[in-house]
Amino acid sequence: MSGMTHINREELNELRAQLDAELASLEEELASHGRAVPESGDWQGTTGGLVGEEADPNDAADQMEELATNVPLVEELEKRYKDVAKALQNMEKGTYGVCEECEEPIPLKRLQANPAAHTCVTHSK
Ligand SMILES: [Zn+2]
Repeated sequence: MSGMTHINREELNELRAQLDAELASLEEELASHGRAVPESGDWQGTTGGLVGEEADPNDAADQMEELATNVPLVEELEKRYKDVAKALQNMEKGTYGVCEECEEPIPLKRLQANPAAHTCVTHSK
């Protein structure tokens, strides 16, 4: 099975560059809204404040608000981050550009719109 026959080397390099750039900017965003959990390799939404810092009650309220925004945001970012990382891994393995549900090639146009797509149009959620 060779999934990448519908994508030539040049097109693949472009998609890889897009994925690399997105991965780097996602890492930056994750780092500014959350922190990495070393044990699991996951990310967690946090406030900008340092952990264990003495906060006055006003700060605490601000931080709760920030946390309420950052937790779902980091979840979104992390989901996207994993999709992008997985797409790059698939490129390494030579299985990039194939629908993970039906193993049909994902149209190049779809990949150019979203290089991290891992399903065909029919199986997109
Ligand atoms: Zn499919």
